[in-house]
Amino acid sequence: MVKDINKDIEILKKKAKPATKDDIAGVAQDLADTLQAYRMTCIGMAANMIGVPKAVIAISLDAEDGAGSLPGAGPADVLVMLNPKYEKLSGKTYTVEEGCLSLEDKHEVKRSEWVEVSYRDMRWQKKRQKFTGLLAEIVQHEMDHLEGKIV
Ligand SMILES: [Zn+2]
Repeated sequence: MVKDINKDIEILKKKAKPATKDDIAGVAQDLADTLQAYRMTCIGMAANMIGVPKAVIAISLDAEDGAGSLPGAGPADVLVMLNPKYEKLSGKTYTVEEGCLSLEDKHEVKRSEWVEVSYRDMRWQKKRQKFTGLLAEIVQHEMDHLEGKIV
């Protein structure tokens, strides 16, 4: 179900709780639906952006060409990740200006060039995936949301 975008800073600052299998049909599906609905203006979302402090993120795979074949993707071109965790991070970083649908301004942040993340997919299967380029940037932005960090 498509949800409204939460702009309440207090909710956005809360650290997410671990997601469970029951969250697949609930918040994870809602997050995928909401990202689909906002795909023209938004390339990634964390569950607290729809008001639910659970460790679920969704990223739009068509944000980058050729990335549409990633395994374990949710509906259409959205990849949903439950309980994402960094396994490896590139030591090489760069600085970039990022915006956020939940915030007004853009902010400068430091990002790793690539990240390797383990997570559960929409079938509760364990997955491990390396992201590079723009997808790596989106994953880091959304995983910051789960920590209550906002750019
Ligand atoms: Zn954001």
